[in-house]
Amino acid sequence: IPVEPFDLVVFGGTGDLATRKILPGLYRRFWAGQIPEGSRIIGAARSEMDDAAYRAMVHEAIAEFVAPDKCDKATLTAFLDSVSYVPIDARGTGGWQQLAGLMRDDVVRAFYFSVAPGLFGDLAQRLHSHAIADPDSRIVVEKPFGRDLDSARKLNATLAEHFDETQIYRIDHYLGKETVQNLMAVRFANILFEPLWNAQYVDHVQITVAETVGVGGRGSYYDKSGAMRDMVQNHMMQLLCLIAMEPPYRFEPDAVRDEKLKVIRALEPVGHDDIVRGQYRGGPRKSGDDELSYTEDVEDPHSLTESYIALKASIANWRWQGVPFYLRTGKKLRARTSEIAVVFKEPPHSIFDEDEAWRENVLAIRLQPNEGMNLSVMIKEPGPGGMRLTDVPLDMSFAEALGEDGADIPDAYERLIMDVIRGNQTLFMRGDEVEAAWAWTDPIIAAWEERGDRPKGYDPYSSGPEDALMLLHRDGRRWREIR
Ligand code: NAD
Repeated sequence: IPVEPFDLVVFGGTGDLATRKILPGLYRRFWAGQIPEGSRIIGAARSEMDDAAYRAMVHEAIAEFVAPDKCDKATLTAFLDSVSYVPIDARGTGGWQQLAGLMRDDVVRAFYFSVAPGLFGDLAQRLHSHAIADPDSRIVVEKPFGRDLDSARKLNATLAEHFDETQIYRIDHYLGKETVQNLMAVRFANILFEPLWNAQYVDHVQITVAETVGVGGRGSYYDKSGAMRDMVQNHMMQLLCLIAMEPPYRFEPDAVRDEKLKVIRALEPVGHDDIVRGQYRGGPRKSGDDELSYTEDVEDPHSLTESYIALKASIANWRWQGVPFYLRTGKKLRARTSEIAVVFKEPPHSIFDEDEAWRENVLAIRLQPNEGMNLSVMIKEPGPGGMRLTDVPLDMSFAEALGEDGADIPDAYERLIMDVIRGNQTLFMRGDEVEAAWAWTDPIIAAWEERGDRPKGYDPYSSGPEDALMLLHRDGRRWREIR
């Protein structure tokens, strides 16, 4: 879907997110011919530098994060010609007049707030007071959106002083992933799945986001948030919503977001028996050095912040009555993998011998690595050995099925930025969704803080704490392997 020419101002345009994701992503869209002529990208950050220096920085970022076969000289030069820079202080006066002078009336204006959330209010206020934003302008805000209900409400209220909800794009890059959107296509563009998508046929759902990295250099930031705030309240909640929501009446922003909101509001409170928190231990590494533990990584031997969490969530509505949604996420786990698995129930009656091991049908939706879907079905084992059953995956890798010569799936950020320019909010969180998610999260965190809950240790590159296995074992189920 084509986009109009635009001016995109990237506040924090020299930062990590901008140079790793936003600017390389914009370049890839430019290379693909999706950025119309006359569009401009304006970096704005605190460092003093001129256009030439900023272009050199952007050039470097592209060289590092874009595949070389997309970096031909002509395209690069044309892209860099559209890039400029304004030194600006979000809290001060410097730079704002200059930015105001650059704005054009005949193009879409978008402002990406790739800065610390403490500056969102300052930026919004100055965009307004310098008449830089117009009623059609969009602002894009990054995570974290608050750290509890109260701060999220305040942030929403601050943005609402200057911008209408239709202008605010709260980004959750999980929603930009190809597979996540495909989940909606699979559910609502096929007749096959929806009739089975309920408590009558679904046994349970597992959502896993496993990382192999520790908190590394982000320790001081991460230690204030932990897995619940950093992953569950936002990304995993969004995945859960897309799995659990009712069919929206149209694929339109508010129709979709209304349905997601209903899911969040129907989430039951989670009791402490249904949560396991973990922290990775240290240990010897293959190289002989010691692997740092979580508390060493964050340099606080007394930290009670979780680097792992597993929980059992329930949705109190007709469709999902009695169907557990098991969520788990953690750092320094066995493999880097994200998947949603919808595990179906047993057939009502088996016509085969009892010793024929039956295995569940599972629809596994893989977000990374290698985005795709996989449906396991039971078939007859080939050969003359009689009727023996085995399960095989009906496997669909999107890169293989759709990409030209393999993978060319756009990154989540570039897809979402294009949606901002198009003015399509479907894949962005609405203010009330974020607040509802915090309203569910807050009491869970408050309860463990009150109890002085200590996270369970787990070995680096394992599947997480032992207790997390029990969360499913006691229900007669087991986690899928992290691999
Ligand atoms: P960063 O520290 O690397 O960059 C911050 C940017 O903000 C720099 O360009 C800096 O010049 C600018 N800045 C700081 N103070 C300023 C001021 N007073 N006025 C104007 N500009 C100012 O941070 P980052 O990692 O790029 O993160 C940016 C935002 O994105 C944060 O909200 C972060 O939580 C969020 N985020 C980052 C990542 C990531 O992978 N880096 C992922 C998700 C969300």
